[in-house]
Amino acid sequence: MGLQGKITKASYEKAKKLIPHGVNSNFRFWGDDDTLIVSHGEGAYVWDLDGKRYIDYRLGFGPIILGHGYPAVVERVGEAIKGGVTFAWTTSLEIQVCERLTRMCHVDKVRLTNTGSEATMHALRIARAYTGREKFIKFEGHYHGQCDYFMFSTASSSPAALGSRRAPIRAPVTSGIPTGINQYVIVLPFNDLERLEETIEAQWGDLAAVFVEPLMGNCAGIVGKPEFIKKLRELCDKFGIMLVFDEVKTGFRIAKGGAQEFYDVRADLVTYAKAMGNGFPIAAIAGKENVMMVIEPGAMAHGGTYSGNVVGTAAADATLEILENEPVFETIQQRGKALMKGIDDILAEAGLPHVVTGVPSMFGISLGSAKAPQEYRDYHKGDTELYEKISLELNRRGVQPDSDGREPWFLCYALSNEDVGETLNIFNDSVKAAMR
Ligand code: PMP
Repeated sequence: MGLQGKITKASYEKAKKLIPHGVNSNFRFWGDDDTLIVSHGEGAYVWDLDGKRYIDYRLGFGPIILGHGYPAVVERVGEAIKGGVTFAWTTSLEIQVCERLTRMCHVDKVRLTNTGSEATMHALRIARAYTGREKFIKFEGHYHGQCDYFMFSTASSSPAALGSRRAPIRAPVTSGIPTGINQYVIVLPFNDLERLEETIEAQWGDLAAVFVEPLMGNCAGIVGKPEFIKKLRELCDKFGIMLVFDEVKTGFRIAKGGAQEFYDVRADLVTYAKAMGNGFPIAAIAGKENVMMVIEPGAMAHGGTYSGNVVGTAAADATLEILENEPVFETIQQRGKALMKGIDDILAEAGLPHVVTGVPSMFGISLGSAKAPQEYRDYHKGDTELYEKISLELNRRGVQPDSDGREPWFLCYALSNEDVGETLNIFNDSVKAAMR
């Protein structure tokens, strides 16, 4: 039996007639019986059309840092949009948000945009324009959005497609991108200092940038080793390569100042989205003064009709204000730690080899081995099938992590200690049911 109740099923059948596979983003498709249609959310919960409540750990794939329908954010947006939303001029609200962002993230300059993909696409162009070089390094299992250049060896690639670890294949993740585009990308396994160093030393003259998710937001929250991230900074400095932190998932989530604060490393360019607006569409490209100032009317393009629109910008203004002034990170940290520890204990009790990966605000569960995965290939050596089974049992009982263990569990400020307790009870039942 799938997750869909009667009303959800009927609505999903209608959705399929209108929308390919009934979803407006492929990642939302869980199959014909398990893809849900949601009626609404509130705080840490979502409800499907049949009125079933879930404690939500997907949180829209990460953006909901405060909670669904968070009143202070909704009210700020509601007020702001009464005066219009798109002007093709700068508003005071944009200035205020960029001021908050530079203060929180220790970046010099910001350009607002709308989605993570737009931010990374522009960051790559800026890096190329700044260095006059064309290629870039990305790591296996890291996702940087839908722009063709990045659609290689992501967390959607089958491990078999990646080739040998010494000479990874640049595996396209989709049909529809020109074959020749792979000449611009170099893929490497994550957290491997030796491969990184030898590649940069051999090819630095062609390298505009290294893109990295410092903590793998698209693969179980695998943490970049601090010595790896520091070495990256050193090598990029030495060879004039732009270090780009893709903080679309980690930004405003793993710390007030994101991964830069977490690692105490400053990137040249940083991309933000998701938690920046608590679910409203807003993103940013930020970075060092000299690098960002490569953007120049008539010379180096960054544009967008909706960049800085009042809807997303007002949401970011309210969200960042709350993140700056309320104990959001401390609260999430405390709840997340309890949840990680509880899950760890339950899996140990059940005799299942496992590692709880990541950090309290976004963590993953790797089953099948007690050795912590360092990179995408390691994660796939684990028991991903058992994880899916447990996840399905959780969802049946009203706790909603993603069905795919590569997607981390995300926590929001609205999640209570009681929710954590309920989740752990259900987790215990779900593990037992999955092992039956
Ligand atoms: N970078 C990272 C690290 C992401 O996780 C995502 C989205 N999951 C993106 C970029 C793309 O963002 P968007 O979906 O808003 O285009």
